Amino acid sequence: MSSKKIQTNTAQFENTPEDIIRIASYHRRDYTLAVIRINPSDHKQVRSSICQPFGAPFTSLRRLGRLPLETVHEICLHLDIQSLFQLRQVSRRTQQIVSTTRGYQQTTTHALDALCVILRTKIASHFTLSELLKVLCTRDCLLCGAFGGFIFLPSLLRCCFSCIRNGDLPLVISVTDAKKRFRLMSPALRSIPALQTIPGMYSMGERARKKKMQLVAVDDVIRISEARSDNDRAQGTRPRESPLLPFMVTTALPYLDVASGSIQNGVCCSGCQLFLEDALMTSTLPGDAVDLRDKVYSDDEFLIHFRQCQKAQELMRLSQEGTSAANLSEFVRRRGYFKKRDVILTFHNLRR
Ligand SMILES: [Zn+2]
Ligand SMILES: [Zn+2]
Repeated sequence: MSSKKIQTNTAQFENTPEDIIRIASYHRRDYTLAVIRINPSDHKQVRSSICQPFGAPFTSLRRLGRLPLETVHEICLHLDIQSLFQLRQVSRRTQQIVSTTRGYQQTTTHALDALCVILRTKIASHFTLSELLKVLCTRDCLLCGAFGGFIFLPSLLRCCFSCIRNGDLPLVISVTDAKKRFRLMSPALRSIPALQTIPGMYSMGERARKKKMQLVAVDDVIRISEARSDNDRAQGTRPRESPLLPFMVTTALPYLDVASGSIQNGVCCSGCQLFLEDALMTSTLPGDAVDLRDKVYSDDEFLIHFRQCQKAQELMRLSQEGTSAANLSEFVRRRGYFKKRDVILTFHNLRR
């Protein structure tokens, strides 16, 4: 994004795009907490084994060591994530080779939380780092085209929060159900990613899920299923999905703009939240006010929206007088809507 100043429609002042984004937008933390997320302290060990040098032995690479370095790097690109991290643990030399493989630094820097989730949900043996890098560098949801700040883990698909919330993601099913419905045996199912869920609180309704489950994408099951009956297909009996499952198979993933090296998590308009709050006070709520409040923009999209949003422009003027959106709206200050989770988060923060 260029730092060129932007002239607003109505204001007499000029601001840089960075100023506008900082003052008139905010990131929805409640969306990130509605899906799989990890407590950084729980993953200290995984993080350091992925990112930091460690005292591995100086073991010889044997036959691998006779290959040209580019060829070894090429092999690393084709290794699944789990094997790649295992290779990195072998010796200081493999640590160095893996760490300098194309995309390693970018993914371990910008997609570290997602990598931890991929390892913890036990799907790492099904995907390569290059595949994750490709998703990291994809900005928009592949299902609806809006800014996508999330990833559907069973097929590493870039998606957005609306598609998660509206149930527009590919369907998932428990492994137990997949075996029953499609008459599959365990060996066949091992060829597709079976995601082990992480107990926690999911969805905007903040519902707790303590039991662990193994989930697979129905499309994957259908692809490998040779025993599914004509009856199943004729009736189109794709299983009905619990509304909670899409939240249990997705996690937040920022967008890496390779050209500028910048990272975007997606922003919402603080002005649209203030507009909604004003409208609720006067009972003149326009039909699209909630949708506009919930819309997640890329930085460029937000700057376009800003030109049309009078409330956002008003925030720029107020900021010159020292008033921020967080002073005016509790929702913006909290960065979303919380009930139980906020209490839990506060508790976590107090304990730190
Ligand atoms: Zn979408
Ligand atoms: Zn707005």
